[in-house]
Amino acid sequence: MGEKRLYLPFLLCLSGLVHSSAAVLYWSAVVETDYVKNNETVSKICECGVFGRNSPVVRASGVVTLPTGDPRGCGLDAVYSRNSSFPAWIALVKRGNCTFSDKINAAKRQGAAGVVVYNVDGSENSTSHMAHSEADGIVAIMIGNLQGTEIYTLVRNGTEVKMVVDVGSPHGPWMDTHWLYILSIAFFVVTAASIAYFGFITAKRLFRMNRERRQEQRLKSEAKKAIARLPLRTLKRSDEETSSDTHMCAVCIESYKEGDVVTVLTCNHIFHKDCIEPWLLDKRTCPMCKCDIMSSLGIEEQPKESLPTESPQEVTVVTVTGGDALYEVPLTDPSSYNPERQQHHYDSRAFQGDSEAARG
Ligand SMILES: [Zn+2]
Ligand SMILES: [Zn+2]
Repeated sequence: MGEKRLYLPFLLCLSGLVHSSAAVLYWSAVVETDYVKNNETVSKICECGVFGRNSPVVRASGVVTLPTGDPRGCGLDAVYSRNSSFPAWIALVKRGNCTFSDKINAAKRQGAAGVVVYNVDGSENSTSHMAHSEADGIVAIMIGNLQGTEIYTLVRNGTEVKMVVDVGSPHGPWMDTHWLYILSIAFFVVTAASIAYFGFITAKRLFRMNRERRQEQRLKSEAKKAIARLPLRTLKRSDEETSSDTHMCAVCIESYKEGDVVTVLTCNHIFHKDCIEPWLLDKRTCPMCKCDIMSSLGIEEQPKESLPTESPQEVTVVTVTGGDALYEVPLTDPSSYNPERQQHHYDSRAFQGDSEAARG
């Protein structure tokens, strides 16, 4: 079925979408800071950072270190003031002025264990998913402006802040996936229902066609047997039919000759055997007097079995009038063929006259 072939690529696309959207969009970072204030250790921990796109998603730790000049740490020559005995350090830089890659590379060159970029002023604690394709191989996360500024101020005032960046939770378009699953299920249901419906309709139609064909075959074979019972005559030279041109077979419009085998119908009209047999199988009636030969032979017309759900068949009839002749031709459905209606209403005498005129 055509629909199936159309649906398949669409379903594959849909399943592909579901699959790819299940991938992680970004990883959040757990940021833990420790420092001593008024002889008390202050520890803060929050899952408030976001790993950069090109950052390894691993743990990193060290003493927070600031650039000596511009807090944004731009330029490959940005210097970090390291005065701690703690060997590992994490660069804290502000967003802006240059690319993330520039900032990260500058810190990496000086041996930072990781780079924490805090967001611009006014962005409060919002973060973004940094892209830094030219600086990979070093942990790089972004934190919010308020948190970054707080740490910056502490370090600037001489407080030693130790930081641990740890892997948080994966984030993906879970909502989208959820809706996509619902959508795919709905789609599958609708598809299955339509396929089932079309399958049912097709099966019903095939069954009906098959039954009608078998009935037609049965009727045809009965009709053939009945036609074979009609009396035959072989015309002789002395017969009236061969001696006069006024007698001719109305099917082939030929005069009868000596030796012609003719069939005598129940109405006593005669026709060539080879002409009238296919005519009767098709049209049932005598071409001359329209007498229903099949009925008189006991062959009932094929019953038109109409299904209860179907509306009566509509037949568009085109009526062509030319002189006295009138033809009504059903246009829509060949199965609604009616031999009565199809019958050509010609007058045998006029027809004979025509053929005589044509010959004379
Ligand atoms: Zn004939
Ligand atoms: Zn007849």
